[in-house]
Amino acid sequence: MINSNLLTVRDLKKYFDTRAGFLKKPAPVHAVDGVNLNVGQKDVLGLVGESGCGKSTLGRSILRLIEPTSGEIIFDGEDMMKVDNRRLRALRRKMQIIFQDPFSSLNPRKRVIDTVGEPFIIYGMAKGKALKERVVSILEKVGLSSDSLYRYPHEFSGGQRQRIGIARALAVEPVFIVADEPLSALDVSIQAQIINLLQELQTSLGISFLFISHDLKVVRHFSERVTVMYLGIIVETGKTEDIFTNPQHPYTEALLTAIPMPDPSTKRKKIILAGDVPNPAQIPPGCRFHPRCPKRIEPCDKIRPKTTDLGGGHSVECHLRG
Ligand code: SF4
Repeated sequence: MINSNLLTVRDLKKYFDTRAGFLKKPAPVHAVDGVNLNVGQKDVLGLVGESGCGKSTLGRSILRLIEPTSGEIIFDGEDMMKVDNRRLRALRRKMQIIFQDPFSSLNPRKRVIDTVGEPFIIYGMAKGKALKERVVSILEKVGLSSDSLYRYPHEFSGGQRQRIGIARALAVEPVFIVADEPLSALDVSIQAQIINLLQELQTSLGISFLFISHDLKVVRHFSERVTVMYLGIIVETGKTEDIFTNPQHPYTEALLTAIPMPDPSTKRKKIILAGDVPNPAQIPPGCRFHPRCPKRIEPCDKIRPKTTDLGGGHSVECHLRG
C-alpha cells in the first residue's frame, strides 16, 4: 500500500502522428497507450522497461511538457488536464524534472546563479541578495560550494553538472520530481554519488519521485515500488521486493535475468528475448508482448489480457495470471 495519493494517472494516452507515403493513411505512434499509475506522498515509483517503450514520453506527458492526447492526471487533488494556464503554471512549480543529459539540459551561456536562480525569478520568489542566498543554500544541499555561482556549465564535470540540474529542480521546492534516466549519461564512478544524493534529498525533503531508469539495480536500490512498461502500457506493478523476488509477468522475468549477479558463482538462466520492442505504430494484436514471449499460450495473440490484482499492491497483465 502507498501513502495517500499525490498523483493519480488514469488512462493516459500520447499518440504522435507520423508522416506516411503519398496516399497512405498516417499511422499514429501509440507511445503511451492508456497508462494508470499512482504515486503517494514521499513515495518513489521506479519506472522500467527497454528503450523505446514510452517511459520518457510518459514522464513528460505527466508534467504536460508534451501535451497528452487524452486521460486524467490528478495532482494534489486537481486535474492537470482541465486547469487553465495560470493554474497549470502554479501546479508545475510543485512538479519538476531532472533530465538525462546534464550538459544539454543546461544553457551553456548561463552561469550557475542564472540557471539555478531563474525559477525564483519566474515565480517571483526572490531577487537580488535574497536570490543569491537561496541559490547558495540550494547549491550546498547538492554538495556544490558558493564558488560555483559565477561559473559556466563547461567548467564542471558531468557529475557536477547533474548536481546543478538537481539544484535547479529543487529551487522551487517541488513535492514531485520526474527523474528521467538521471544517471545514464554519467561515469559509473559518479553514478553512486548522484543516486546517494537523490536518496538523501528524498528522505530529508520528503519529495516523491517517478524514477525512470533502465538500470534495474539502481531502481531496486532507490524505489519503494516498481512499475514495468512495455510498448506504451504498464504490464506489472508492485512493491520493489515483490517485483524483484517474485515477478509475475514474463517480460519482467526476462528483464530481471539480464541483471548481472554480484556473486558470479550464483547461476541464473538468462532469458533472451527475441527481437526488439515492436514499432509503436504497429501494435501487435492480443497481448502486445506475445511475439517475443517465451511462455505464450493459445489466446495470447488474439485477446489482450486484463489486469489482475494479486493483492498487496501487486498487479499484472498476463493470461497466465488471469
Ligand atoms: Fe506472454 Fe501470453 Fe502473458 Fe502475454 S499474456 S505475457 S504472451 S503469456
